[in-house]
Amino acid sequence: MKQLLHTLLQSLATLAFCAGSVTAFAADKVPVMASFSILGDLVRVVGADRVTVITLVGPGGDAHVFEPKPADAKNLLQSKLLITNGLGFEPWVQKLVKSSGYKGPVIVASQGVKVRSMLAAKGNGTETDPHGWQDPTNVVIYARNIASALGKLDPAGAAAYQANSEAYVKELQALDAEAMAKIAAIPADKRKVITSHDAFGYFAAHYGIKFLAPQGGSTEVEPSAKQVAELIKQIQKERIKAVFVENMSNPKLLTQLSKDAGVTVGPELYVDALSKAGGPADSYLKLMRHNVTQLVVGMKQN
Ligand SMILES: [Zn+2]
Repeated sequence: MKQLLHTLLQSLATLAFCAGSVTAFAADKVPVMASFSILGDLVRVVGADRVTVITLVGPGGDAHVFEPKPADAKNLLQSKLLITNGLGFEPWVQKLVKSSGYKGPVIVASQGVKVRSMLAAKGNGTETDPHGWQDPTNVVIYARNIASALGKLDPAGAAAYQANSEAYVKELQALDAEAMAKIAAIPADKRKVITSHDAFGYFAAHYGIKFLAPQGGSTEVEPSAKQVAELIKQIQKERIKAVFVENMSNPKLLTQLSKDAGVTVGPELYVDALSKAGGPADSYLKLMRHNVTQLVVGMKQN
């Protein structure tokens, strides 16, 4: 008994020592700012216990129409790295960097992704589709870019960042294979979905689904009555039942639209933002699994 107690006390002492060193390390964590919640999750995964992440556009937030507050500029000034999506997703970022006085590196996590274009939100023509993270094979590139940027900033952690990102790449590949199999089980002519804004271009191309969106590529512009009327006609003609709203945009439009077209709106999809912690999509992997599950249920009804 005495021996056992001794061992126990020794273990406790070791634990206390470890806890002490973790706390001491906490002060040395690299402060990193991520532009929006999905990137914040990726930085947390890759940075693990070496970084502290602050996210500008938090869970449920809409980065397309975000307006930075003075507190955001203050947080940015205290960061050592700013990680953005790029591809025009954060039209406010340059102004924020300038006004904050931040002089550190700004990296574009989507660097190297095969860029898609989509119909322009304003007027005719096309513009860059910013929603690269909707294809998990792109997120492999995001994760590696984040690991490389963190490694440059904190060379002592470079190997750890790389190991974390490669472990995560395996999870992304498993997610992708799972999603591909579930979607491939739906007959090709049933793979049609209506969402409120056109955020699924990369997802659609990768998984072979046709998405129709009344709101175009950004949430900045409301669709015209004519666009909505045309979409209603299309829903009826193609008998599309898979209609979804998004977590970060106003569902009113789609609710009205589905009423006029005589279809039921499916559950919320998480598109440009994670859910709040504890919600169904509080990490990128959970977000994708949630969306795939809901989309498959919807498409089966087409
Ligand atoms: Zn979007």
